Amino acid sequence: MRGHPNSIYARDVEYVLHPVTNARKHEEIGPIVIDRGEGIYVYDDLGNRYIEALAGLWSVAVGFGEKRLVEAASRQMSKLPYYHTFSHKTNEPSVELAERLVKMTPARLRRAFFTNSGSEANDSVIKMVWYYNNARGLRQKKKFISRTNAYHGITIASGSLTGLPANQRDFDLPFVPVRHVTCPHYYRFAEPGETEEAFADRLAAELEATILEEGPDTVAAFIGEPLMGAGGVLPPPATYWEKIQAVCRRHDVLIVADEVINGFGRLGTMFACDYYGIDSDIMVLSKQITSSYQPLAAVMISHELYEGIADNSGKIGTFGHGFTASGHPVPAAVALENLDIIEEKNLVENARRVGEVMQDELRKLADHPLVGEVRGVGLIAGVELVADKATKAKFNPVGKVGAQVFSRAHEHGLIIRAIGDTIAFCPPLIITEDQVRDMVERFRVTLDETAAMVRETEVA
Ligand code: PMP
Repeated sequence: MRGHPNSIYARDVEYVLHPVTNARKHEEIGPIVIDRGEGIYVYDDLGNRYIEALAGLWSVAVGFGEKRLVEAASRQMSKLPYYHTFSHKTNEPSVELAERLVKMTPARLRRAFFTNSGSEANDSVIKMVWYYNNARGLRQKKKFISRTNAYHGITIASGSLTGLPANQRDFDLPFVPVRHVTCPHYYRFAEPGETEEAFADRLAAELEATILEEGPDTVAAFIGEPLMGAGGVLPPPATYWEKIQAVCRRHDVLIVADEVINGFGRLGTMFACDYYGIDSDIMVLSKQITSSYQPLAAVMISHELYEGIADNSGKIGTFGHGFTASGHPVPAAVALENLDIIEEKNLVENARRVGEVMQDELRKLADHPLVGEVRGVGLIAGVELVADKATKAKFNPVGKVGAQVFSRAHEHGLIIRAIGDTIAFCPPLIITEDQVRDMVERFRVTLDETAAMVRETEVA
């Protein structure tokens, strides 16, 4: 490993347990130290520049080094660095942000509840839905339905909704009552010859069968990312959401749209619910809400949910849920400035326009020998690498080639995300057409080198 025993590399290995990291491998290879950022780029401590093609963790909408957000935080910290919103207290930035979110989200969503993270937001969703159904006298109606490959967080409850084995295995999850139905990935799960519409029919029928099997009086809510992110960037097939919503409505199953990655312009519309025509009872927002300069998430709820919760809190004395930092004025002030920048710079329109270029450029790689499928909408895309294009056979073991691409991309000044063997792209919304072309070119070179390596190991 690089450096002196007192170097940051050695001290990192000595003192830090990294999230979502192979700890033994980390001891061997040590960390990459990210030192600063500017626009779509981050720099390591050796001065190497990388295009941050995942915007951190799908989140830095306005790019790195945005001084206006620093100033907004600083102004608010000087005035009121912290206060809570328990027991009737409030503060200006959190009210202004709640009002703005209610006005910009679909009309049915009428109240905002703030948390620090997407995971806490989804835990809050579960508790609110249970509280609401208890208030309605529906004490059996508690189960959630999620999907395989879903990502809704990492805490005990939200991690139960997540449908990715690595986040559940040996953590004794799921812990809350949840069923996972098939994720809407046409390329992988449609039958040969099945149209997108027929595939969507089949998935809606599977959802309905699951609800009926469990008993509709026990199923509280369906949660889904409109376009699935961390599970592999999976845009749903045509007609999927209208059919899923119809099933939910038939059985009084609430619809939760997890827009933690999708929200604030990622698909070229302000929310993915606008893009897919989803009329949810609850919407979960985070990440791009502050461009992740500050931790913040919001649970947006419908009038009906609010009324049920408010009634019950009146009856039993309190809505006994909330965090020390719910409604923290500093992240709220940063979110407001961040939303101003998104509007002033037309970043949603940029995501649509430059997103088309990104989708076109990536689709030009569809003929590449390693590429099975290129998919995505706006400024989010996944490129799935396969061992055999004709049969769609996966690499053995899954993830080995993805990991190769990931580390080779670093050498070409590109940070991407490898989800198994799917390479994810989700750059800052400020990215330009030229920067998109540069990003895809670096990826193409990386792929060519990886293909040569794969051929060599096959021959050997
Ligand atoms: N929901 C979705 C759709 C996410 O992508 C994530 C994080 N990647 C979360 C929830 C959880 O957010 P956090 O990491 O802030 O807890």
